[in-house]
Amino acid sequence: MRRPFALTCSGGRPASKTCRHLLISLFFFVTAGELVFAQDDEEKFRRLREEMVRTQIATLRWTGFEAVRDPRVLDSLRKTPRHRFVAPELVPYAYDDRPLPVGYGQTISQPYIVARMTELLEPKSEHRVLEIGTGSGYQAAILSPLVAQVYTIEIIEPLGTAARQRLAALGYKNIEVRVGDGYFGWPEKAPFDSIIVTAAADHIPPPLIEQLKPGGRMVIPVGNPFQPQMLVLVTKGSNGARDLQVRSLMPVAFVPLTGGPKSH
Ligand code: SAH
Repeated sequence: MRRPFALTCSGGRPASKTCRHLLISLFFFVTAGELVFAQDDEEKFRRLREEMVRTQIATLRWTGFEAVRDPRVLDSLRKTPRHRFVAPELVPYAYDDRPLPVGYGQTISQPYIVARMTELLEPKSEHRVLEIGTGSGYQAAILSPLVAQVYTIEIIEPLGTAARQRLAALGYKNIEVRVGDGYFGWPEKAPFDSIIVTAAADHIPPPLIEQLKPGGRMVIPVGNPFQPQMLVLVTKGSNGARDLQVRSLMPVAFVPLTGGPKSH
């Protein structure tokens, strides 16, 4: 007796063609459904980013910290998918006004701090920038569209490797990730137009001052670990390392910069 049709596609049966069509239609139906959901999600995250910029970043903060105004920086925050830089269970909090854990006791900074530090670097499209403390790679991703090249160093190997893979998967082409001790900078790629340190040091590492171009800017949290630290802006004058201007800007809380001469 012939069955009307079976949902197996073994060859030779008269119903197998119909069956194949059915399976193909089912596949497209499911895939199209997933696509619609994915698009809905992307739209939801885009709206969350808009709101994050409007309510947390481009506005005077309740702490008195000033609004970030550089339109290029704000645009990069609107476009960068922060939810792709955190673990799946933290995705619902990706656009919240706070830092988030990235594993190994490290954190991805609060969006406002990322934006403010980026603005302080005064990034230009021809700049080559060094970041110390890759973490998730989010800060490097924010810098990517604003400058020519980002070099970033991470001391914890699995974090550096994961960030390199994540940034490549997301299509970032001008970010180079190195696993190593950023205290010593990246002499082969120096000098840099600007340097951003995203971990707190008890002093400004001399190799980083050395590797900053005359006229360059460095942003670094300075202070003891687990105590309030100061975000410091260092500008190097045209007379090099003896011509430094150091300005303390605002209190911040960063994980410590490890490594350095003591560990060698
Ligand atoms: N910028 C990151 C967050 C930084 S958290 C982001 O956007 O996600 C600080 C990072 O600095 C941590 O991942 C920590 O491992 C790293 N770090 C600490 N000391 C370092 C050093 N000497 N050299 C390089 N990275 C260091």
